[in-house]
Amino acid sequence: MLVVALTGGIGSGKSTVAQNFAELGALVIDADQLARMAIERGTDGFADVLLRFGDEVILNGDIDRKKLAEIVFSDEKARKDLEAIIHPRVQALFAQAVADLELDDILIYEIPLLVETGAAEKFDYVVTVESDIELRKARLLKKGLYISQIEKRMASQASEEARTAIADAVIRNDGDEDSLLRQVENLWESVLLPQSLG
Ligand code: ADP
Repeated sequence: MLVVALTGGIGSGKSTVAQNFAELGALVIDADQLARMAIERGTDGFADVLLRFGDEVILNGDIDRKKLAEIVFSDEKARKDLEAIIHPRVQALFAQAVADLELDDILIYEIPLLVETGAAEKFDYVVTVESDIELRKARLLKKGLYISQIEKRMASQASEEARTAIADAVIRNDGDEDSLLRQVENLWESVLLPQSLG
């Protein structure tokens, strides 16, 4: 089995690459999805968020993630408290997913903040998707994001240099989606499949 981290800045093409890997036969999970599961209604993570932040972060019985994001964005202590609730639970969910792997599985873990969380060592292999910054902005604008949001997110993320420095492979997504798929297929066939077989 092989546990692969897939990182890259916002708009670089990570989700597209993850989708390509899934079509080739990988199991794909996403750190953001685990972070949502960690505080889902009915979990003890949910109860801890309620205890720490109160009713104002609840909307129709669920956690109002937008409201929570607003609070922690402007309050460092609140951000740390929320991370202390979410982080260990994400770790546990990830560990469970790894424990459930079969011998010939390849798990792709989509983790935007790999550099920022210092978790690269946990993986057998690290892939980063990199793309020209103007192309990334154009793709995200097309998806309906505002330029102010895009630039704020980009500024809060690690640099291309920092991601590339911890990566075993770099996928460059400056061409069309076919060229992206070809790189993913090539990495799958010539590196990941052979490595997963030991
Ligand atoms: P990320 O997950 O890194 O934020 P996505 O995979 O969601 O990036 O890609 C951002 C947007 O750009 C999506 O709408 C996606 O369909 C589009 N996209 C990604 N790669 C390409 C490409 N090579 N050519 C055209 N559009 C692309």
